[in-house]
Amino acid sequence: MDGDLAVIGVGTTGSMILWRSSLRPGSVVGFDATYPASDHTAVGGDSRMFRMAYKEGSQYSGLLANSERLWKELGALGGTRILDQSGGALTITTDDGDYVRSLRSSARASGADFETLQPDELRRRFPQHEVLPGDLGLFDPRGGLLRTDVAVLNAVEQAKANGATVHQTRGIDAVVPQDGFVEIHSGQQSWTFKRVVISAGAWSRDLLPKRYAEHVKPGRILLTWFSSREPANFENGRFPAFMRDSGDVHMWGAPTLDGNMVKLGGICRPNEIVDLDAMNRELTPAELDDSHAAVDRLLPGLMPVAVRAKAYPDLYTRDAQPLIGWLPELPGVYVATGFSGKGFKMAAGVGESVTRDLFGEPPSANIDFARPHRFADPAVLDQSWGRLVSAERISR
Ligand SMILES: Cc1cc2nc3c(=O)[nH]c(=O)nc-3n(C[C@H](O)[C@H](O)[C@H](O)COP(=O)(O)OP(=O)(O)OC[C@H]3O[C@@H](n4cnc5c(N)ncnc54)[C@H](O)[C@@H]3O)c2cc1C
Repeated sequence: MDGDLAVIGVGTTGSMILWRSSLRPGSVVGFDATYPASDHTAVGGDSRMFRMAYKEGSQYSGLLANSERLWKELGALGGTRILDQSGGALTITTDDGDYVRSLRSSARASGADFETLQPDELRRRFPQHEVLPGDLGLFDPRGGLLRTDVAVLNAVEQAKANGATVHQTRGIDAVVPQDGFVEIHSGQQSWTFKRVVISAGAWSRDLLPKRYAEHVKPGRILLTWFSSREPANFENGRFPAFMRDSGDVHMWGAPTLDGNMVKLGGICRPNEIVDLDAMNRELTPAELDDSHAAVDRLLPGLMPVAVRAKAYPDLYTRDAQPLIGWLPELPGVYVATGFSGKGFKMAAGVGESVTRDLFGEPPSANIDFARPHRFADPAVLDQSWGRLVSAERISR
């Protein structure tokens, strides 16, 4: 036996599971195909938005509350702040649209605070945004920004200090349960563990049984960076991380951590990646044109030509909820993946709840909504992949 627990993929989620499980008895070993915090993974692009008032549903409130606590703890352990709440998070959406209704009901259920800003107040407080007729602002004071690479590297350092080890491999290509243990393979090499967690992000599909693999797809998410005409107007603290869903506009963004630029995404819908190895990391001319046009129209204080642009992968599930739990078809194998473009903010809480689940304790936050067995439910199988554009639609 090479150890008690193997974590396949030491990225966003895997690094948090490694950290939390390294505090428990037994040996834990992480395996990564690149290295933790590689810019080729869903950790790439420097920062992610954190929100407590979360329209995706109150089922996330426990994970978010635990994450807020653990991001602070991890930052304090490593000596560098990971969660920066100094700017809060702003949502701009259409008054009385579906978005505002679900955000309000989810915030009410989880007790998250937010301020409603009528159009004049929205314009006065955040003049960087072009406010459209019918727009409303919702300000989440506990929202903010997460430093992605620092979070992952800190978690790995903490785990190593607690006795965990991390192997950089060619990539694990098979997970094979045997009688009472699990074998994992990378080319000619193999290892055996009592239990194994699959947390390989967009690449997890290749390791899942067909029954789950057919309900997940890697998606390509685009980021663009823009320079501002007056940098002081777009500094963290003055220009909050934002999510905009008003009229025909979908967009999110944040100041960069060094304060020099604004990073934007969501303008083009994420699209299915057919072959991860051949994924286009660049933006196409059409994608760049759409991004430039959106900036020109909605953020007049930015110069409307991207100075940096890159695409990153994440794993989407059919119903846009994560996939977390034991896989009954593979005894000893647990999965934590499929975060569908929203997993960073909750990763620390997921790491804690998964660890408790692995050790047979009740998870500290609700993860039942994410259990793999839901893919036996015809209502779930009817879902249409949310915002993910299918590969067929792109090639048409
Ligand atoms: C551009 C972009 C913007 C986003 N914005 C936000 C946001 O603002 N807020 C938010 O909460 N979420 C956001 N998300 C979503 C969030 O970043 C992801 O859901 C989350 O990071 C996914 O984490 P993961 O652990 O599943 O995958 P990853 O972090 O990608 O980790 C997977 C790891 O597995 C490794 N690996 C792959 N294959 C193998 C293998 N065969 N063997 C061993 N190791 C392997 C990889 O090298 C990697 O280290 C965004 C995502 C993207 C891409």
